[in-house]
Amino acid sequence: MTYVVTENCIKCKHQDCVLVCPVDCFYEGPNMLVIDPDECIDCALCEPECPVEAIWSDDELPQEEIPFIEINEKGAEKYRDANIVDQQEPMAHKSPYNTAEAIKVVQID
Ligand code: SF4
Ligand code: SF4
Repeated sequence: MTYVVTENCIKCKHQDCVLVCPVDCFYEGPNMLVIDPDECIDCALCEPECPVEAIWSDDELPQEEIPFIEINEKGAEKYRDANIVDQQEPMAHKSPYNTAEAIKVVQID
């Protein structure tokens, strides 16, 4: 089991979540944050912190958010150098990215 960042994060990226993670397992991509599933200890602290309900346990994910399991796995590898432990400037609301774009971003290269 792990926690997963999903589509709502693409549009806001407030980053309240990173402040509570005891193992600092959030990584920053160009359009959203991801959680490294190997580092996440399933403490659930981040889930209520997210103001847009973007964080889910992988065993409770709505069907349409299933692709984000892979996006978080691959993104955590791809953005290895972008570990995020402090809140930063949020992205502009209504980012042009959507789920398909997020999949493309983490799978290219
Ligand atoms: S709190 Fe974290 S998961 Fe939620 S939208 Fe902001 S950056 Fe994404
Ligand atoms: S569930 Fe806990 S360990 Fe996993 S990302 Fe959230 S705060 Fe970090």
